[in-house]
Amino acid sequence: MACNKGVDLEIFNEHQQKVAETLHDTACSSDWTDWKWHIRHSVRTVDDFERVLDLRLPEAKKKIIERTIRTFPMSVTPYYLSLIDVDDYENDPIFLQSFPSKEELVIGRYDMTDPLHEDKDSPAPGITHRYPDRVLFHVSNTCSMYCRHCTRKRKVGDVDSIPSREDLELGLEYIRNTPQVHDVLLSGGDPLMLSDERLDWLLTKVGEIEHVDVVRIGTRMPVVLPYRITDALVAMLKKHHPLWINTHFNHPRELTASSRKALQRLADAGIPLGNQSVLLAGVNDCQRLIRSLNQKLIKNRVRPYYLYQCDMSEGLTHFRTPIGKGIEIIESLRGHTSGFSVPTYVVDAPSGGGKIPVMPNYIVSWGPNKVVLRNYEGVITTYNEPESYDAKYCDRECGNCKLQLKEDDAEEKAIGIEKLLSDWDDTTSLTPENNERLERREDAA
Ligand SMILES: *Cc1c(COP(=O)(O)O)cnc(C)c1O
Repeated sequence: MACNKGVDLEIFNEHQQKVAETLHDTACSSDWTDWKWHIRHSVRTVDDFERVLDLRLPEAKKKIIERTIRTFPMSVTPYYLSLIDVDDYENDPIFLQSFPSKEELVIGRYDMTDPLHEDKDSPAPGITHRYPDRVLFHVSNTCSMYCRHCTRKRKVGDVDSIPSREDLELGLEYIRNTPQVHDVLLSGGDPLMLSDERLDWLLTKVGEIEHVDVVRIGTRMPVVLPYRITDALVAMLKKHHPLWINTHFNHPRELTASSRKALQRLADAGIPLGNQSVLLAGVNDCQRLIRSLNQKLIKNRVRPYYLYQCDMSEGLTHFRTPIGKGIEIIESLRGHTSGFSVPTYVVDAPSGGGKIPVMPNYIVSWGPNKVVLRNYEGVITTYNEPESYDAKYCDRECGNCKLQLKEDDAEEKAIGIEKLLSDWDDTTSLTPENNERLERREDAA
């Protein structure tokens, strides 16, 4: 079959064209849209990087990068690589997310290998169970592209493999035996590194578990290898509703014709799409950029879901912004643009504290009868509380309540702050462990 050059490539400038041609020296266009070809030809060394992009790094810089790769390996799909604008590669958002930086070896004062304590919250192989009703299920140990900002950087390239059926069975067994789990998030690595057959098997197994209401897949394939979203994959996924997919766009440049097509296929299959961005210094820490990204996402039927504060993982120090930057971004979005293009900005608390939403303050003050609020324009306004509101005492006996909630829909118990607010629980305070003041009291008693 003759090679049909240049099909479906995104050409930004002459350099891009050259990159595409170099890649096509070894590939027909049919290869170019074959996702497995990209996995096989992923660029893993600085030499290949230079060759494909036709650029030369200074020798000293190259040495340092090679050292970085020994600690944190590199792997970039030819597709993602082809999006780099070589004229200004050092500031290129694709380059910065995929090419190692010497800064990665600078271990910051507060950096941790497992800041989210995912390993400690793991009751079974591959499972992270942190929240009451949902689990993360790590079903792949590998990705098509190694994001330089990966929070699981400690694991990248460690066991570059797909777990066996037996390994996956152990995770499934945990979910089966844990009835409070209603929502299973397939994560990794990238779950779409699994073959269609393996994924079909896994989704069938999860779907058979009575108490699981919904399955989510977290994948960056639409961004770094959109050709993975084949008609066959989508036809298979469609059999497993209710299925949600969250992807990971960080910059408007990543929304190419190919990735838009991938999103369209998924959306047409009735899969609700969400996006999780990470706020990254030098890549996307700009109000206008995030707004443009989110507007492009909603145009492609992707709902911006979370904007993450960069974690305190080893090797990520140079990507971190102050939390204030994220709050400033949310301030620039809420009210200014469609509500559904505003993600929730979250800080994933170190030590397994989970996601904590952060946003600007909108309540200016509060009295018994009135709440003083401000809007995005700075207008300060008053909301009058209702003159009468029958604040019912809730004893959790839903059968005696007029709200017609069926009791078997209302089983779960309250924890944390919800418990402090509740009527039926006598708890009046939450006290941190090793509170010396309380220990002194007990001593005195
Ligand atoms: C993010 C996350 C979830 C899902 O959180 P949602 O807020 O429901 O999207 C579940 N488990 C773990 C460990 C997570 O980090």
